[in-house]
Amino acid sequence: MNRSYLLLSCLFLMLHVPGNIFGQQDPHLTGAAYVNPAVYKNREVLPDIFGKPDPGLEKTLTQVKGNLYRHTNGTLPALHSGLVLITKEGAIVIDPALTQAAIWLNEAIKKRFNVPVKYVILTHAHYDHAGGSQVFQQAGAKVIIQKNGLEPIIGEKLPVAVPDIVYDKQLTITLGGETVVLHHIAPSHSNSMSVVLFPKYKALQLTDVGESKTMPYNDFLDFYYDGWMETLDWALKQDVDFIDVGHYTPATLDDIRKERDYMEDLHRQVLNLVREGQSWDQLYRNVKFSDEVKTWGGFDAMSKLNILGMYRWVSNHRRGIW
Ligand SMILES: [Zn+2]
Repeated sequence: MNRSYLLLSCLFLMLHVPGNIFGQQDPHLTGAAYVNPAVYKNREVLPDIFGKPDPGLEKTLTQVKGNLYRHTNGTLPALHSGLVLITKEGAIVIDPALTQAAIWLNEAIKKRFNVPVKYVILTHAHYDHAGGSQVFQQAGAKVIIQKNGLEPIIGEKLPVAVPDIVYDKQLTITLGGETVVLHHIAPSHSNSMSVVLFPKYKALQLTDVGESKTMPYNDFLDFYYDGWMETLDWALKQDVDFIDVGHYTPATLDDIRKERDYMEDLHRQVLNLVREGQSWDQLYRNVKFSDEVKTWGGFDAMSKLNILGMYRWVSNHRRGIW
């Protein structure tokens, strides 16, 4: 191996380590690593299908308490939401959730509070929540995601910002006298999930993992059952009374407890039926839902798909005598 080849290989390796320390350290952040944007400069992106102007799109920015706000927009096929913290040094936005909504939200924050958006937190690398992050980045905000989120954004060619900042287990933002803490508890809904705590406001962002009297989505796409339960158990230990779940209505800890019980019961039933030797064709007819779960939003559309997602998880994680 000649020397120039070795040098080139080293350079290649340095540039391709996600979270490679790059550029200036940000004094507002503890636990951050910095992505080298030059590596992804010419990356391919898919069309931004939710990026089309829609004057009829309903959007809101409403106060939760103190400096904490919640934004919503009516992205098809569901209402999407995220928390927003306003500080005197700038705003922190969670999940823009659509390009057109991001354009509106960026303007609304500037007009109402006269501060720029400093940080955009992406709870995970799914297009319906991360869409629009490029709008804030182009206006000067830094985009943050858990480090496992970088690969799917690049690999899936998502039309969203390439994040500026990644972290492993915990990242703390201190800005304008406020503190926000991002935790990666475990793979749950995707392996890049951040849950975001606002300690002073007893508020938590628990996107797509938490449910508020609604069924978890479809067949638990991008699902890790054990990490999902670990994340819910962690959430149940927090001193919070406002939980935004990224959709529809915010949840209480009681809602999260009921969701946890539902997930555990579904897992136990499906595992027992599989161990009895039931095929899918028998099994899905034999899973029972409580009367309360039957009243949850989306029950008719999601219940069989929830069984299917759990059946797949269980089937992939057992062996019997073989
Ligand atoms: Zn998602």
